[in-house]
Amino acid sequence: MACPPPPAEAIAAARLTIDLAAVAANYRLIAARAAPAAVGGVVKADGYGLGAERIAAVLAREGCRDFFVATLDEAIALAPALAAEARLFVLNGLVRGAEGRAAAIGAIPVLNSVEQVADWAAAAPGRAAAIQIDSGMSRLGLSPGDALALAGDARRMAALNPLLLMSHLAAADVPGAAANAAQAARFAQVAAAFPGVPRSLANSGGVLLGGLAHDLVRPGIALYGGAPQAGPNPMRGVVTLEARIVQLRDVGAGTGVGYGLDWVAARPSRIATVGVGYADGWPRALGNVGAVAIGGRRVPIVGRVSMDSMTLDVTDVDGTALAGDFPVQLIGPDRPLDAVAAEAGTIAYEILTRAGPRYARRYRGDGADGAAPADGAS
Ligand SMILES: *Cc1c(COP(=O)(O)O)cnc(C)c1O
Repeated sequence: MACPPPPAEAIAAARLTIDLAAVAANYRLIAARAAPAAVGGVVKADGYGLGAERIAAVLAREGCRDFFVATLDEAIALAPALAAEARLFVLNGLVRGAEGRAAAIGAIPVLNSVEQVADWAAAAPGRAAAIQIDSGMSRLGLSPGDALALAGDARRMAALNPLLLMSHLAAADVPGAAANAAQAARFAQVAAAFPGVPRSLANSGGVLLGGLAHDLVRPGIALYGGAPQAGPNPMRGVVTLEARIVQLRDVGAGTGVGYGLDWVAARPSRIATVGVGYADGWPRALGNVGAVAIGGRRVPIVGRVSMDSMTLDVTDVDGTALAGDFPVQLIGPDRPLDAVAAEAGTIAYEILTRAGPRYARRYRGDGADGAAPADGAS
């Protein structure tokens, strides 16, 4: 990929640790809940920012054979790393004219419109494809009417090799949502016109909903430790983000801190500056709102989050907890990913996929522990 290699830990302001054993455990938990359906792995956006190749290798070891990326360029990057028997789906379908390039690497496009169906049938007749049906999210996929018309078009169907029929749930993270049953019913109704074609409906939240008829599930966030639904999170945390303290200073009562000086010390205070800012994907919304953890204690972010740094009120933190290489936990056991996301007014998906290239990256728990190779697993 085009991103620069991550910096070595010795010179980085922060390090991102990715626990591949936790990814494997999460895969097994999802597989147990989804059985007898098979489990694919959604590794779009470079494995939700955590490294698609490394994640895919772990999933493959757990028996995963189906992988989903969003775009053809993601497929081109990942395909060489996959085993020959793996299937690689392109969720967003193809840009018109790209059919030959997709076919050349054996990627399986998810055909989302009548036009994409026609283009694929013409450019790659008989080559495997997935067909997506819009069962109610109004985002991607053939309308039920168009899908039924396609099923009834023997000539067109003869030029297609649909090996998966899929749809996507709009509210799978809300167990009680009426939309889930409505989408499942609409999907089943359309799928009945494609006898023998395996079905895929559930993302992470959909797996936990249970009761859906499908042959293959498509979890993403659950593999990466995010909560698939509101409520207690059954998944194991995958990511730890820790930062160094760049500078400590003591300020008097009444001293302003950061851009706009809109945090003002109410008492003599000790301020720690860390070298993580919004250019690293750390949400600017956390300024004066969010927190980190030091020595197991919650420590508030004071002042605005800058591009490359932010400031913490460590007045109440024991001095020994401030020592050490990476004493500040931004995400981890003391600062769960979903809690950080909620404080920032966003979702775990966005926090993960924005994790920036300036973090040193190390992978744990796949028997090959250590820093990311300099040639860039990211
Ligand atoms: C991203 C995506 C998934 C994975 O969703 P999660 O909520 O991360 O489990 C599954 N299917 C489709 C079509 C997607 O776009």
